Amino acid sequence: MSTGYFTHPDCKKHDMGTGHPECPERLSAIEDRLLVSGVGDALEHREAPLVPLVDAELAHERMFVAALRGLGDQLLDEVQAGGRGYTQLDPDTAMSVGSWAAIQRAAGAAIAATDAVIAGELENAFCAVRPPGHHACRDKAMGFCFLNNVAIAARYALERHGLQRVAVVDFDVHHGNGTEDILQGDERVLMVGLFQHPFYPYSGADSPAPNMLNLPIPAYTRGPAIREQIEAVWMPRLHEFKPEMIFISAGFDAHREDDLGQLGLVEQDYSWITRCIKDVAQAYAGGRIVSCLEGGYNLSVLARSVEAHLRVLADL
Ligand SMILES: [Zn+2]
Repeated sequence: MSTGYFTHPDCKKHDMGTGHPECPERLSAIEDRLLVSGVGDALEHREAPLVPLVDAELAHERMFVAALRGLGDQLLDEVQAGGRGYTQLDPDTAMSVGSWAAIQRAAGAAIAATDAVIAGELENAFCAVRPPGHHACRDKAMGFCFLNNVAIAARYALERHGLQRVAVVDFDVHHGNGTEDILQGDERVLMVGLFQHPFYPYSGADSPAPNMLNLPIPAYTRGPAIREQIEAVWMPRLHEFKPEMIFISAGFDAHREDDLGQLGLVEQDYSWITRCIKDVAQAYAGGRIVSCLEGGYNLSVLARSVEAHLRVLADL
């Protein structure tokens, strides 16, 4: 069985302004790298659908989803009337006229990947999407995120496919506070996360519910020390939980060369972490993994790290 690669051209139409690190070129850099390396040839490419809003509401308040859709419509009207079509939601997070489509494609990719993996059409899948999702809370967009792609897909696997236990693994340099907000206390989910601390969004020092396992890591910690912590803290809990499917919030901004964070991972560490997750998936979940792009802002480093991640997922 092969590894799916879900994306859509709409994901490049979300534009938060000149110089914003969460830029459309991130996806182009990944595509170029997969083309040149040949890794792209080994993947099954699929187009991401729009997320059904009723599925987005598995993780978000209905009023919040409606408000995002309303903003999307309003921006379209503005542009048609000759306006700029741009609105700022928080100091880091803005919507352009193309954002609402990108938001729906990003979550739609996670849903479609979940369907394909559970149906046995694909062993696992990577969603090369933006905007990212793990800071998006039940009723709030923040930190470059609007809908929480991974939380929606995890809930979708539980509610629509009847799975009993799913794990969420988040190795972005920032704490996945949105995923935590949505999934804390849901005993069908185990979330394990590592992130630089103290650091944006300044949460996660404690694990707020028994199904949340946070691993706050001081700035300037390098790969070997992080691997030791993963082995000591994450792995026993994942093996004990025996997930039927694993969702990855795959951010690559904990890379040593990514200026948005100060952790010291390198490509080999991403390969190693992916291998650990894959071992758990193969032991209990029939190999089922859906991985969604989160952060990663140095274009070259992002592309190299995604390649490393995909080589393990696809056994290349
Ligand atoms: Zn991040």
